[in-house]
Amino acid sequence: MEIQIKDIPHSGKDYTFEVPPDSIDLPKGVASLNSSVKTEVHCTRRETDVYIVGNSRASFWTECSRCLENTALNLRVKLEGYFQQISTEKMALSEEVGEEDVGYYYYNNNQIDLLPMIAEILVLDLPTYPLCDLNCQGICPECGRNKNRDTCSCGNPQEHQGNPFKSFFQNED
Ligand SMILES: [Zn+2]
Ligand SMILES: [Zn+2]
Repeated sequence: MEIQIKDIPHSGKDYTFEVPPDSIDLPKGVASLNSSVKTEVHCTRRETDVYIVGNSRASFWTECSRCLENTALNLRVKLEGYFQQISTEKMALSEEVGEEDVGYYYYNNNQIDLLPMIAEILVLDLPTYPLCDLNCQGICPECGRNKNRDTCSCGNPQEHQGNPFKSFFQNED
């Protein structure tokens, strides 16, 4: 996923990339890619300073945080970064200095590899509590049945008590 700096005209250039799922390492147990990663970016440059904006799309396998079933998750992330060329020696010492959504990155050897940036942003944008469905009913805490598929008669009257602050607000007026 390399971009040669000299290939970017000063008017800017669009690039599209598609890399297979195994080209990105995700933390084990979090999620796994089940599709290629598709990326579209627009690059502009001023001498060796390059600004890149675009998006990446990928599909993951992950575990629903309520019912623990395997579920497919489609993710689209925004990419935005400024890239500055530095020497190889400095490159070895450098760390990315991030600021809000826009990243500041370094490159050397007259080319930018977008893969590390994309891998990092995909991991950061994975939801902490993925859901198979917004209305996932989860697992019954008593019998362990998946309540999306099975009904059980455990019953849990406390579950429907409603807003715990209700009486608090009622007392106010
Ligand atoms: Zn679920
Ligand atoms: Zn139950």
